[in-house]
Amino acid sequence: MAKRGMLIVLSGPSGVGKGTVRKAIFDQGGNDFVYSVSMTTRSPRVGEENGVDYHFVTKTEFEEEIANGGMLEYAQYVDNYYGTPIKYINKTLDEGHDVFLEIEVQGAMQVREKMPTGVYIFLTPPDLKELKNRLVGRGTDSAEVIEKRIETAISEIKMMENYDYAVVNDEVELAVERIKDIIRAERLRVVRV
Ligand code: 5GP
Repeated sequence: MAKRGMLIVLSGPSGVGKGTVRKAIFDQGGNDFVYSVSMTTRSPRVGEENGVDYHFVTKTEFEEEIANGGMLEYAQYVDNYYGTPIKYINKTLDEGHDVFLEIEVQGAMQVREKMPTGVYIFLTPPDLKELKNRLVGRGTDSAEVIEKRIETAISEIKMMENYDYAVVNDEVELAVERIKDIIRAERLRVVRV
């Protein structure tokens, strides 16, 4: 039987750039770990593809998945559900492949409870002003949604102590390299505890 794969969880406050950093990691290619596509009830943004960026489902479908025990974790975030389907993760880890999740902090803490041997990486903004600029600059959310996201972000930053690593997202390429360094080092660990 193959050695079980390693779970890598990238999390951090809303707007910190988790999605951008994750995309940069996978756009570069050549990675020996795979991305776990999340399920969400939010509508696709322009350019997003079903099954690639997310599995886009209805609220009823999502709630059925929860009831059937199909989610490793899920969270309600700005009026939508987001979650990680468990089947794909278990299958991929059992086959010996490493799996990469990019999720918000409530979900990451649920995963940590269930899979404590994973590698938990917290992406931090250089500062809160910068975070607000990014959310506004992205131009995809209303002022009300941005305020909600910033409130959430302040309480989320306090969560950093629950992670194994903190990576500052000052520049995307640098953050990507730091994350890849962490993964390389974790692979050389003698024992995973
Ligand atoms: P967005 O709507 O900007 O794509 O994502 C909003 C937030 O949901 C981001 O912080 C993103 O990391 C998080 N997210 C994406 N997929 C999942 C998931 O499967 N579970 C959880 N808990 N959060 C997720």
